[in-house]
Amino acid sequence: MADGRTIVIIGGGASAVYVAVALEEQAERARRQTGADAAPAPRITIVSAEPAVGRGLAYGRADAHHRLNSPAGKMSVTAGDESHFLRWCAEHGHEIAAGDYVPRRLFGDYLEDVFACLVERSGGRVRVVQGEAVDVTTDASGAGVALADGTALDADAVVLAIGNPPPVTWPTGAPLQLDDPWAPGALDAIPVGARVLMIGTGLTMVDVATSLARRDDGISLTATSRHLLLPRVHLPEPAAPGPGLGGAPRPLGRLAAELRAQLREAEAAGVPWQAVIDGMRPDLMRHWTGMSLADRRRFVAHFARRWDVHRHRMAGSVHDELSGLVDAGRLRFVARADPADYDVVVFCTGPGAVTTRGWSRLVDHLLDKGRIAPEPLGLGLDADENGEARAADGTSDGRLFAIGHALRGALWETTAIGEIRILAGRIAAALTPSS
Ligand SMILES: Cc1cc2nc3c(=O)[nH]c(=O)nc-3n(C[C@H](O)[C@H](O)[C@H](O)COP(=O)(O)OP(=O)(O)OC[C@H]3O[C@@H](n4cnc5c(N)ncnc54)[C@H](O)[C@@H]3O)c2cc1C
Repeated sequence: MADGRTIVIIGGGASAVYVAVALEEQAERARRQTGADAAPAPRITIVSAEPAVGRGLAYGRADAHHRLNSPAGKMSVTAGDESHFLRWCAEHGHEIAAGDYVPRRLFGDYLEDVFACLVERSGGRVRVVQGEAVDVTTDASGAGVALADGTALDADAVVLAIGNPPPVTWPTGAPLQLDDPWAPGALDAIPVGARVLMIGTGLTMVDVATSLARRDDGISLTATSRHLLLPRVHLPEPAAPGPGLGGAPRPLGRLAAELRAQLREAEAAGVPWQAVIDGMRPDLMRHWTGMSLADRRRFVAHFARRWDVHRHRMAGSVHDELSGLVDAGRLRFVARADPADYDVVVFCTGPGAVTTRGWSRLVDHLLDKGRIAPEPLGLGLDADENGEARAADGTSDGRLFAIGHALRGALWETTAIGEIRILAGRIAAALTPSS
């Protein structure tokens, strides 16, 4: 079979695997529709800073007890086969139900294995180049990727699957300050029995608090944040999603009114609120792209934090563990804290914007030459609904795409696996000529 276009994916985390799988599936669909020669399979090169592809930060640096915050039945790599992950688990000796919240490491095993099988099946068409991509060029004839070691790769298109920058931090004056709890071995620096202040009360805090409490009985844990909002809890069994937000995009005020009305109706009918949120989630990217900039700003300023804690929930067993720490007096939440009163401060505030200067040579180069640009909210890259990155002058040429956290400002719901899979499908459709 003839080879098709050459796609370089930069980054070796979960997003890279979803894009690679989606490209394969899209090519297969196109082949079935048009015949093999009209729709040859793409050549895919993944440029990965890490030696293994698939786990990335979320599934590669997790402790054994860290669990997915989405049910196993929604994590399949393939959009057309929701039970793929469950079958893989069964084949590998794990009896998992669709509503289970499995260890993140197990999901990392799955992604790594799916990708390894893809490489093996491809006979050299899908490959990994280990290294750091430091520049991308695009013009009418194609795209090029430069690696730090001098390697140059030619491509028809490039996908930035570069993941999550470390949190935005500031000097706190604490004797020990950990700016990035996900840096390898970061928490090992915390002395036994330390008084630890965690800044941020989201899912990262939940991971850090449970990890620290498990390794040290004598540790004292305090968490603080501006709004002291904690992630809510998943239902023991997922409920059928609510009606969602169909129809054309509309102003934020109307969307908020519809959310409130659906919550009231659900409560009256004895339906859990989680069902309402889950019904709306798939419609949000569409509504976000149709929203005025003023409404987006208003959402970020006034609704985002509350939306996120209801939308990104923790598993029941994780909530039980956290509550146990609170009940035992080992974890407390405070509205204000003076870092000087603690031995260690850990930033649990979540990833910064990918456009933050200094975390990635690649991003800095692309920003410097105007090939990518921040979107107006400053949360990520300017891009369209397919993840195609716009240059500083607003143009795009079909050769540079992004996925994951990079699209936070452009599409809002972009970081969880559900949305990563949707975006991977859109990118694959845009990059498959006959589709
Ligand atoms: C701690 C944590 C837990 C999460 N848990 C869940 C969950 O339970 N369920 C869910 O749906 N979502 C979860 N998420 C959301 C998560 O972001 C996605 O699921 C997914 O893991 C993101 O993968 P990624 O490939 O986009 O980014 P990453 O995992 O960050 O991978 C990006 C990779 O690209 C590499 N890279 C970056 N720049 C370059 C370069 N220039 N050259 C070469 N390589 C480069 C990095 O080294 C990294 O390995 C979680 C996120 C975090 C941070």
